[in-house]
Amino acid sequence: MGTRYGFIYAHPDDETFLSACLIRELADQGEAPVLLLATRGDAGRQGLERAANREELAQLREEEMKAAAVVLGLADVEHLGWPDGQLATIDFEELVAGVIAFIQKHELEILFSFAEDGGNGHPDHVTISKATTAAVLSGQCPSVRKLYYASSAALRANGHQSSIVVDTEANWKMKAAALQAHATQHVAIAKYFGDLTAFPEERRFEAFVLGWQDGMMWPKPEIAAQLEE
Ligand SMILES: [Zn+2]
Repeated sequence: MGTRYGFIYAHPDDETFLSACLIRELADQGEAPVLLLATRGDAGRQGLERAANREELAQLREEEMKAAAVVLGLADVEHLGWPDGQLATIDFEELVAGVIAFIQKHELEILFSFAEDGGNGHPDHVTISKATTAAVLSGQCPSVRKLYYASSAALRANGHQSSIVVDTEANWKMKAAALQAHATQHVAIAKYFGDLTAFPEERRFEAFVLGWQDGMMWPKPEIAAQLEE
């Protein structure tokens, strides 16, 4: 086993939207990437037509996540189980403690999460980004060497360049299969990616900005668009 990679997001499907092909590449290299989700995704209006109530929806989305994890090659998926849509209202220190525990348990070295704008401004995305950064800065996660943020409009506006860029074309069928595994989310998926049988040129790249490395926020961007050796 080489480097230990962890992905930390808010909802089941965030990992596939932003980082399906990166996760798959790591798995194909023999790594064992792991995923932490803050919620079980039980608040969406989508999917309630298939579930009697929120608990049923949460179970359905966990099952979908398990199926997606197989497609992506994730070695482990954990859910903190905070209420979907309300992450910004819960005790922040408790949320951070859950992230720290996950990082410590897996002795993670390289982390990926949302940028501070949450990519699309979703309060859950913003909050888990802040919690991940707080965990890294807490001094309680000495295994962590790098924290990457999924590239976002705010990061680009501030001049932050991506140092990991994954072209999804070669693995698009895999990414489409992982998206389809999140079946309750089909409306949002179609809105963002269009018809999954066609490669979405405008959603071609998964890109990540190095936000923290070895004690320093916003280190100089890495030169090569390469994963860890
Ligand atoms: Zn989300």
